[in-house]
Amino acid sequence: MVVVMKLNTNAEQIATLDKRLKAGGYQTHLIRGTKRIVIGAVGDRRPVDPAGLESMPGVEKVLRIMRPYKLVSREVQEADTVVKIGGMGIGGNKLTVIAGPCAVESKEQLLLAARAVRRSGANVLRGGAYKPRTSPYSFQGLEEEGLRLLAEVGAQTGLATVTEVIDEESLTAAARYVDILQIGARNMQNFRLLRLAGKSGKPILLKRGLSATVEEWLMAAEYIVSSGNGDVILCERGIRTFEDSTRNTLDLSAVALAKQLTHLPVIVDPSHATGKRELVGAMSRAAVAAGADGLIIEVHPDPTIALCDGPQSLDPGEFDDLMTGLRPLATAVGREL
Ligand code: PEP
Ligand code: MN
Repeated sequence: MVVVMKLNTNAEQIATLDKRLKAGGYQTHLIRGTKRIVIGAVGDRRPVDPAGLESMPGVEKVLRIMRPYKLVSREVQEADTVVKIGGMGIGGNKLTVIAGPCAVESKEQLLLAARAVRRSGANVLRGGAYKPRTSPYSFQGLEEEGLRLLAEVGAQTGLATVTEVIDEESLTAAARYVDILQIGARNMQNFRLLRLAGKSGKPILLKRGLSATVEEWLMAAEYIVSSGNGDVILCERGIRTFEDSTRNTLDLSAVALAKQLTHLPVIVDPSHATGKRELVGAMSRAAVAAGADGLIIEVHPDPTIALCDGPQSLDPGEFDDLMTGLRPLATAVGREL
């Protein structure tokens, strides 16, 4: 439920209410908006009578949240969440562009990619160190050495960094080196990993599962937020459909819908969504037009020799063209790039 406080409520009234809710078995989350203060109370026990709460000092009204996800829903928080990373915000008016190779392969490869994407205006460097590959015989990533390179190249180029974590060990290691932890499509419903991400103290980039509904995706985000971490960025990366002429089917309606249902930022990955570099530009523009808060794009200094996802990776020139084409579109929809 959501307890909406009166505008003139004081700290003591909030504390009394918080105690009462916790005693009833609820987990509480105080959300201070610009227009109102609300307490989100979640839990599966219902011993506290909402009518009784409404008569407590400082309380304006008590609302039941009808959706299964609570803390991530717009019912609890109307205003957009802006995830802060250093001086940058993901989810505000300014679009975020995350770019870099699918996998960290070497210092030279990462540095070339980072310099190129930075020059073209990207804000965050991506690079996989633990790769969840379909085949056990494919390149699995440089693991901790890859994390070390990401930290070094990120610091050298002034870019924030993001990398995928696949289990407890990689999460603990990555949290020491990078700014944002990514939970990939294949692990979107790894609930233990989601809870650990909630306790990591790092912003989480949560990709939509290969066959996950929007509700399942938001429930996965709820796991992270209810474990104590409100800094979640959602990422639509295409879903499995009957269509096999693209790697996945980019579900842009899910982006527009998620923006209505949740206050969390939503970005789009046109690289994994299409699997084809020729389609990445068009889908990036479409994503921005649909209201996405940013993009995550695979860029390799030489995609022909990439160890992972070469066919969908842009080279630095193609990425630069994409950014140039995106600017007028961002302006047209009232966003900055
Ligand atoms: C990735 O971004 O490197 C990745 C593996 O993406 P996804 O989890 O969306 O397949
Ligand atoms: Mn990839």
